[in-house]
Amino acid sequence: MLPSLFISHGSPMLALTPGLAHDFLRKLGPTLSPKAIVVVSAHWASERLQVSTSARPETIHDFGGFPRALFECQYPAPGEPELAMRLARTLNAVPVERGLDHGAWVPLSLMFPAADVPVVSLSLPVTWSNRELVALGEKLAKLREEGVLFIGSGSLTHNLAEMQAQGTPMPAWVGEFSDWIHEKLTSGERTALFEWEAAPQARRNHPTPEHFQPLLVALGAGGEASRIHHSIEHGVLAMDVYAFA
Ligand code: ZN
Repeated sequence: MLPSLFISHGSPMLALTPGLAHDFLRKLGPTLSPKAIVVVSAHWASERLQVSTSARPETIHDFGGFPRALFECQYPAPGEPELAMRLARTLNAVPVERGLDHGAWVPLSLMFPAADVPVVSLSLPVTWSNRELVALGEKLAKLREEGVLFIGSGSLTHNLAEMQAQGTPMPAWVGEFSDWIHEKLTSGERTALFEWEAAPQARRNHPTPEHFQPLLVALGAGGEASRIHHSIEHGVLAMDVYAFA
């Protein structure tokens, strides 16, 4: 059975710039053979839960100030309207037409460059409690038996205001938070994650919660946690990937 994944997507330039996280995602994709992918991205925040029923989701370039080559990237994976409508019913989600934001297409373009696996986007209901987000994942867990890969796409740490030059060593406040999360996840103390905002340096690493919340959905959708990648970009962006097998 496929794991559920939490993927740190970092800067959109991850799509084009070889490096530890970029190279890891390229190698990870071929180890999985999903029939379809359901993704919750930090970049589709909503009040109510929504699901995209698009048969041909467009590639959304939801960023500014990057080189033209990034705006020319296309990720033409098909949608899967049937699966989306099933999710709309079982999760009481609102069906809408929507493309793939960069939290979805940037990692997918590295993992599945042929863009031949159908992708269904679910929105991130940012006002839900941590428990509700884990429970949403629990409702998605059964899909893994059907060969559906669940991906929560965010960033383990995400303070854009404190970004440094590439190659800058990680400051202690980033490590304190990411170590706490790692310890709780891998020691089976899942319920500690219901109060992740009380972790050391949580607010500094996540001035807003939307890049952490996809981890809670991935946690609910899977089993035992393992960190399958760890690296740092721009000093403060932990690019960690967790598998919940
Ligand atoms: Zn992001």
